[in-house]
Amino acid sequence: MNRRKFVKTIGALAPAAAFVNSTFGNPLSKQVKPIVISTWQGNVKANEKAWEQLMNNLPALEAVHQGVMVPEADPDDMSVGYGGLPDRDGVVTLDACIMDHLGNIGAVMALENIIHASSVARGVMEKTPHVQLVGDGALQFALEQGFKKENLLTEKSVAAWKEWLKTSLYNPMTTVEEIQKSIENNHDTIGMLALDHQGNLSGACSTSGMAYKLHGRVGDSPIIGAGLYVDNEIGAATATGVGEEVVRICGSHTIVEAMRYGKSPEEACKSAVERLIKMKGETYCKKVQIGFIAVDKNGNTGCYSLLPKFTMAVRDQVGSRVIQAKSIF
Ligand code: ASP
Repeated sequence: MNRRKFVKTIGALAPAAAFVNSTFGNPLSKQVKPIVISTWQGNVKANEKAWEQLMNNLPALEAVHQGVMVPEADPDDMSVGYGGLPDRDGVVTLDACIMDHLGNIGAVMALENIIHASSVARGVMEKTPHVQLVGDGALQFALEQGFKKENLLTEKSVAAWKEWLKTSLYNPMTTVEEIQKSIENNHDTIGMLALDHQGNLSGACSTSGMAYKLHGRVGDSPIIGAGLYVDNEIGAATATGVGEEVVRICGSHTIVEAMRYGKSPEEACKSAVERLIKMKGETYCKKVQIGFIAVDKNGNTGCYSLLPKFTMAVRDQVGSRVIQAKSIF
C-alpha cells in the first residue's frame, strides 16, 4: 500500500484552467510546461505562491524564493523559519540555500533571529563574492542588508522545547512502525524546485534543522550538492530527512548525476537512497528517514524515500496534487 503511487488532487481545477488559458498567449509555453515541486504535502500553499510567479512569467529563481518564504513566515510550520523548533539550548538556528540556472549559489547556516533565511541566502548569492555565510557573520550581513531582527520562538515551539527538556533525549532514529503510527512527520524542511517558461530550473531549500540538535549543528539543507542541486542542462534535486545521512551521499548532486547518465527522476532518487543502504547497511537505514524529489529538464518529476510516508507536492498546469513517494522499506 505504501509503495503504491497515488495521486490526490487538492487544488481546485478552475483556477488551474485559468492559468492554462493565460499561458496560451506565450509562444514558449508550447515547448516548456512550467512546474513546481516541493518536499512534503504541507507545502502545497508554497507551491501555489511559486506557481503565481511562474504564471506572471517570472523566472524560476523568483518562484522558488517566493515559494519557500511561505512556510518561513508560517508560525505553525515547526520545521522552517518563524516557529521552527529550536536547538537543545532553546535557540532557533536556520539553514537555507538557493541555486539558479546559471550555477549561481548562496547559502546561510546557523542563522539566528531572521525569518527569511532564504532571502539572506539569495543576498549572499547576489551581493557578495561568497557562496556561504555562517552564524554571526550571516546575521551581520543580514542586518547590513536591512533585515530586521526577530524572535523566532513561538508559544508552541517553546512549549514543545520545554516538554523535550524533561528527557533531553536527542534521537533522530525512527522505525517504519513509528512512522506508520505517527500522524505528522518529524521532517518538514522545504526543498522546492521550479522549471519556468524559458525552460530554466532553479531551487531553494529552507529549514530550522533537526529539532533539539546541538547548538551550531548544520545539516544538509544549506549545503549545495547535499540538500539542493541544479544543473540547467539536466535537472534538479532536493532533499529532506536526517541531514547527516543526506550529506554522507551528497544526495542531490548524486541524483542529478544519475539523471545525467539516463535515469528518470524517480530512478535517480531511488539510486541515491540505495547508495546510503550500500554504505551503511539495511539495519541502520531501517531507522533513518531520507527523502528526495527531482525534476528533469523536460519537467518530468520523481521522488523516493527510505521509509514510508514521504510526500511530494506538485503544481503544474493540470493543478495541484500530492504524490506519495515509494519507499525502500
Ligand atoms: N534535512 C534537515 C536537516 O537535517 C531536516 C529535515 O529535513 O527535517 O537539517
